[in-house]
Amino acid sequence: MTRRQRKAKIVATLGPASSGKEAIQALFEAGADVFRFNFSHGTHEDHRMRYDIVREVERTVGRPIAILADLQGPKLRIGQFAEGRVTLADGDEFRLDRNPAPGSRQRVCLPHPELFEVIAAGQSLLLDDGKLKLQVIDSNGEAIFTKVVTGGVLSDRKGVNVPDVVLPIPALTDKDKRDLEFALALGVDWIALSFVQRPEDLVQARELIQGRAGLLAKLEKPAALDRLEDIVKASDAVMVARGDLGVELPPERVPGVQKRILRSCSRQGKPVVIATQMLESMISAPVPTRAEASDVATAIYDGADAVMLSAESASGAFPVQAVAMMDRIITEVERDPQYRSVIDAHRGEPLPTRGDAICSALRSVTQIIGAQVTITYTTSGHTSLRAARERPAAPILSITPHLSTARKLALAWGVHTTVSPDVRSVEEMVAAACKTALREQFARPGDLVAIAAGMPFAESGTTNLLRIAEVWEQAI
Ligand code: PGA
Ligand code: MN
Repeated sequence: MTRRQRKAKIVATLGPASSGKEAIQALFEAGADVFRFNFSHGTHEDHRMRYDIVREVERTVGRPIAILADLQGPKLRIGQFAEGRVTLADGDEFRLDRNPAPGSRQRVCLPHPELFEVIAAGQSLLLDDGKLKLQVIDSNGEAIFTKVVTGGVLSDRKGVNVPDVVLPIPALTDKDKRDLEFALALGVDWIALSFVQRPEDLVQARELIQGRAGLLAKLEKPAALDRLEDIVKASDAVMVARGDLGVELPPERVPGVQKRILRSCSRQGKPVVIATQMLESMISAPVPTRAEASDVATAIYDGADAVMLSAESASGAFPVQAVAMMDRIITEVERDPQYRSVIDAHRGEPLPTRGDAICSALRSVTQIIGAQVTITYTTSGHTSLRAARERPAAPILSITPHLSTARKLALAWGVHTTVSPDVRSVEEMVAAACKTALREQFARPGDLVAIAAGMPFAESGTTNLLRIAEVWEQAI
């Protein structure tokens, strides 16, 4: 029985360094709560193999695990080079065109004709996460002529960012639609949509998902910040995707933006993941830099639901150590009395709804009677998320009859997610709560527990019941 001793969660990206059953189980045991499948890399067969393994691990460890399918989105990439790579020097002329032939030091294919229409002289193109910079001299429907401002090595299929332009492209490409269908057919719990620019971008994905998974918006375009509140509202969860965000915005603006997104998500009660370069140096070293440790800690102090590993766990040399390091940093922050005072100070006001009234009462009742655990009985997961938004000091034991809900909640702050058969009455619900609290070692016989639920039980969005119960032995 694995019971995490921390509230914030860990998302670990799977890749070549973490593909077998042993490797994935080791990541779970080190602390990974959610596994991310990055659809920018790997084949459907790779993802299917990993999916089956994660579900096998789930059965072995007896805990629901969330799988997040991260769609590539309209990420612009150059084509390939005859030699695999070229070196561009400052001042060189370089052309991007529609010719699929392998590239050279003079030119490379840019297979995104939409861009040729909107880019204009004077604007910049950033390549390979901003490592190289090109200035546009001229462009027509067939080619973009540029001058190299910052040179360097450029290799096959590197990313292209165009910070000066709002791209006239939908958030779901044809590849994304195929990947989305594939991921939903597998049974993933979360779909991450990349390069969201406006709330409307989420509409089509919602329609295609049809409630089969949660929808997470990746914030990595400056344009998204202009519509932040509405995008958070239209999503089920959010990711601060600092990789692309920090290319499109100057790096010095990323920390402030991160805090702004965290505030918005905490107000609206949407889970938020802080991602990219968190323990970057652990790709090749067994310990992080002190600055990286501080970055993870800051995200936790600021109230993030989860912190994420990318290459550290997908292709690095120390995937398990990176997860274990995050686990230790989070645990240490949550033990710090300053953490509690910051979290309490930033708690948002409950909305004037029955659910928020109950969840706010759940937190204070738990505190007043000194219960070790707050229990939420939930169908859709909504009650558990609203309880998590209250950031109670005691852990949230979430009970649901639906495995899909339990898995999804693995991403949420403070939620220990479990599955238990459907109940028909308050008595059955209380019995299920006590039994689960005993089994998962959140309470002992004689302890008091506070339970939030909604009646009728099978309906979602009905949170209207708060019950205090004494745990009794017979419940087992
Ligand atoms: P990516 O997203 O790894 O899919 O690019 C994360 C980021 O941009 O930070
Ligand atoms: Mn990105």
